[in-house]
Amino acid sequence: MAYNLKVSIDKDSGFCFGVVYAIDMAEDILEEDGYLYCLGDIVHNDEEVKRLKEKGLRIIGHEDLPNLKNEKVLIRAHGEAPETYKIALENNISLIDASCPVVLKLQNRIKSSHDEDEKILIYGKHGHAEVIGLQGQTNQEAIVFQSMEELQGMDIPEKFTLYSQTTKSTDQFYAIKNELIEKGYDVKANDTICRQVSNRYNDLENFVVNFEKIVFVSGKKSSNGKVLYEVCRASNPNTFFVSDPKEITADMFSVNDRVGICGATSTPMWLMEEVKAVLEAF
Ligand code: SF4
Repeated sequence: MAYNLKVSIDKDSGFCFGVVYAIDMAEDILEEDGYLYCLGDIVHNDEEVKRLKEKGLRIIGHEDLPNLKNEKVLIRAHGEAPETYKIALENNISLIDASCPVVLKLQNRIKSSHDEDEKILIYGKHGHAEVIGLQGQTNQEAIVFQSMEELQGMDIPEKFTLYSQTTKSTDQFYAIKNELIEKGYDVKANDTICRQVSNRYNDLENFVVNFEKIVFVSGKKSSNGKVLYEVCRASNPNTFFVSDPKEITADMFSVNDRVGICGATSTPMWLMEEVKAVLEAF
């Protein structure tokens, strides 16, 4: 039986400029040198990482950096903490700095706040590379939290400056800010969410209502992927989260379904095209 699915890809989905910049930089060097070290996954998308590894990209962890000398190492869009720059200098490592300008600006703002002795709270995911880089600007003094529940048992200052990881949900950020103010804290709040992510909310909401089913393509580790998937699901409950085209099976669909494909800021367009080809073959 042919499913005859009518499949469209959201033209506004796919890499943000920060990811495009990092991948372009990596590909230029790979073409010239044949290999390049990258500190952490260059992008939170296993399929794209696999493609670049095949071209010579060598992913290393922070524990590997002190053992490397006289090499080039790419810093991905998430940015790094000052400690990484220090180690690179000591080991004669040339850092190819592809930190996204939006993240760098946020790092600088947090550093200025810290230099002015402000107490700092960062709404972000524990252990996320960007958040580690942000906290690093404060000598690890900033408090990182993922939810209001987490703050409940903590000893937090009466007055503080609030920042957000760039890929968090704006709705949740403002809900947290308002709740903290209601609880009596003196909060200087900075909405530092990247517009490359939040500007997609409306576009996605408008896109997903045109289809019976939505295939949202994203790496499982992508923070903005989780946020944007929830945005899609709120407007179209028949939204599937897919990381690999192999996860898609025909029984997810009905004959003649209109299917929309969209993704995160770390989802390559070629992967969405592959998903489209799989769907069209059912
Ligand atoms: S989502 Fe925004 S902050 Fe993050 S890499 Fe892309 S452009 Fe930069």
